[in-house]
Amino acid sequence: MKKHNFSAGPCVLPQSVLQKSAEAVLNFNNSNLSLLEISHRSKDFVEVMDNARNLALEHLGLQNKGYQALFLQGGASLEFLMVAYNLLEKKAAYLNTGTWSDKAIKEAKLFGEVVEVATSKSDNFNFIPKNYKVPSDADYFHCTSNNTIFGTQMQSFPEINIPMVCDMSSDIFSRQLDFSKFSLIYAGAQKNMGPAGTTLIVIKEEILGKVSRVIPSMLNYKVHIDKESMFNTPAVFPVYVSMLTLQWLKDMGGVSAIEKVNNQKAEILYSEIDKNPLFEGFVTNKEDRSKMNATFNLRNDKLKATFDDLLKQAGINGLNGHRSVGGYRASMYNALTLESVQVLVSIMQALEKGA
Ligand SMILES: *Cc1c(COP(=O)(O)O)cnc(C)c1O
Repeated sequence: MKKHNFSAGPCVLPQSVLQKSAEAVLNFNNSNLSLLEISHRSKDFVEVMDNARNLALEHLGLQNKGYQALFLQGGASLEFLMVAYNLLEKKAAYLNTGTWSDKAIKEAKLFGEVVEVATSKSDNFNFIPKNYKVPSDADYFHCTSNNTIFGTQMQSFPEINIPMVCDMSSDIFSRQLDFSKFSLIYAGAQKNMGPAGTTLIVIKEEILGKVSRVIPSMLNYKVHIDKESMFNTPAVFPVYVSMLTLQWLKDMGGVSAIEKVNNQKAEILYSEIDKNPLFEGFVTNKEDRSKMNATFNLRNDKLKATFDDLLKQAGINGLNGHRSVGGYRASMYNALTLESVQVLVSIMQALEKGA
């Protein structure tokens, strides 16, 4: 039976990418060797790493603009502290829009003063704060573009004259932005780019080298840049699958093309949430709604068993909300098809008809 995978992460990947990845595990580039058993310094793998790094910059429109792309390990969670280790000398400004921002702030505090410019914590993060002031004497400003757990997404970013750092784990490559406004972007691969195990970091080189502390090699962006993302053995398989997904995205027409489909998917799901009397959205300000993760709930808990049963029969997977929000969360990453969203909407309509 065909499955519709709405998982929040690790997430759905294109079928063609899974197929090619499986082949490379058995026989990589017709070498009769597995991708998993060759040197990461072999010509074939160095090509994979170079392709992945170039494609990432190309999709963001950041080629030849002083940026470097790295594929490191440790997830976005390691970036919470690496960012501060490498950039925080005295004071940093953070916008707190959810669990992940909160965790980033906790790590940054180990390295210096953190100014929380605004937070929606008291409302369980169901909106994105606006009209906050970013102190111009901070070393950098940090934000989370898409809040995977709560289903909110930043639609605009402040105009500031200090480096802007953004955790884009769950919406990178999903929409067009002027990415040159950001000095550092990081994203765990497993939400919208590939499997778990590698993290993309895109960094403007000129922001480095400004802190006085000594930085251990593995946590030092400059070291990884100088070694072309091969300071130590990279996560060869996750990098390969990410490269294939970035190639797939290019073949689809790139970020601008996928953004149109993502907009359509979000539009049909949110309009059903709004017009179906059995459901309500979690996010209070509609303009803050995430196009990647839609959070919603049944107004009447008694229908839960029936709805869950219908979802199961339709092959819908991964729709449970995060435990801190409850209800449902439909994650509609790039590789989720419009058809899958249509199936979900048809189940919501079937529930309404039967109720
Ligand atoms: C999932 C997620 C993280 C955590 O990523 P790990 O790779 O598990 O460390 C951080 N930020 C956001 C926005 C996420 O969605």
